Amino acid sequence: MKKVVKFGGSSLASAEQFRKVGSIIKADPERRFVVPSAPGKRSRDDEKVTDMLYACYALAEEGSDFSEKLSAIRARYEEIIKGLSLKLSLDEEFQKIEENFRNKAGKDYAASRGEYLNGIVMAAYLKFPFIDAAEVIFFDEEGKFDDYKTDKVLSKRLEQMDAAVIPGFYGSMPDGSVKTFSRGGSDITGSIVSRAVHAEVYENWTDVSGFLIADPRIIPNPVGIDTITYKELRELSYMGAGVLHEDAIFPVRREGIPINIRNTNAPEDNGTWIVESTCQKSRFVITGIAGKKGFCSVNIEKDMMNAEIGFGRKVLQAFEDSGISFEHVPSGIDTMTVFVHQDEFMDKEQKVVSAIHRLARPDTIDIESDLALIAVVGRGMKSTRGTAGRIFSALAHANVNVKMIDQGSSELNIIIGVRNEDFEAAIRAIYNIFVLVQL
Ligand code: ASP
Repeated sequence: MKKVVKFGGSSLASAEQFRKVGSIIKADPERRFVVPSAPGKRSRDDEKVTDMLYACYALAEEGSDFSEKLSAIRARYEEIIKGLSLKLSLDEEFQKIEENFRNKAGKDYAASRGEYLNGIVMAAYLKFPFIDAAEVIFFDEEGKFDDYKTDKVLSKRLEQMDAAVIPGFYGSMPDGSVKTFSRGGSDITGSIVSRAVHAEVYENWTDVSGFLIADPRIIPNPVGIDTITYKELRELSYMGAGVLHEDAIFPVRREGIPINIRNTNAPEDNGTWIVESTCQKSRFVITGIAGKKGFCSVNIEKDMMNAEIGFGRKVLQAFEDSGISFEHVPSGIDTMTVFVHQDEFMDKEQKVVSAIHRLARPDTIDIESDLALIAVVGRGMKSTRGTAGRIFSALAHANVNVKMIDQGSSELNIIIGVRNEDFEAAIRAIYNIFVLVQL
């Protein structure tokens, strides 16, 4: 049996954190493939090594002196090495990094060094072999993750190995240059490695004991989620629930490998299990609530719209031509509404409005700004009568005016549009009616 363990930046921010990670790995001989992030913040006001690397490289790129910033980065690793009493010198590595920064090796190369160096330290600490992710994780010519090549090379390389440390967040382009995933991308590496070794579980160790039903900045001490399906999680992370990178689900999902989110600072907690499907009923009808502020709705009206074939396509064409993606498109008989991100839309709004007029010839277009979208997600909703009724009566009692309702055909979620200023009150009302009353 093999387990892949990925540790986030805060789990590896100091020697003390490294020691916790070491005991977690030693506690279970199946934890054999380790994916580290770069050292994160040691305290609230600290800086992540990845951010330090970006800032350092920005100086190198403009030809300024970056030695001080690079020394500060090196000090972070030396502190860990010393704290763990390791006999490891990073002299050669830092010489190479300095040279490559001078030769402008690229922003991605720079950022990737955080994970690369942490991988070297982790491998020395655990006495596990180190594998440079640039040799086993690949991107194609367009910079898209090359799934096929990666799985082939990585699974072959790991097949013969009992254990390995593979740094997260980066891989290489066909020309050999380093490329990173988007921020938080070590989660994706962990998922890719899990698939390559056919892991029994992908353990993702972070600084919280899994997912919470709602954002703790809005609901004090919300209840945790024990089990969530990939689909539910996709809905929630799309709507802003953090913890795991959105793209980390896809590689393991295809293999049916569960993800277990765990807390490095509380390893006895079970955390959250993310699974393909489960017969375990969630404790409440809803699994989670998430949402985002900052949307605009573009309301388009035209008499007899329902009879005009191609109207919707023409309207959406206007958004596509300006490179704007839409979030939701609820429609009525003679109306169609397009929800977009306000910050993406703002600069281009008049261009889009005139394009809709030109392409679709509507009667009126009306824009409403400062809206929030809330997703109430739960596999339990399908088999429970009255879920929507409870949501909307709770919102009415909380004096929240609902601007939009959209229930996905999967009956897995209900999306509700409210004004930005009602966002928190709406989430509280929904949490109270489904969770609080049952506690
Ligand atoms: N270190 C990178 C970041 O800060 C990647 C990661 O931690 O997953 O985004």
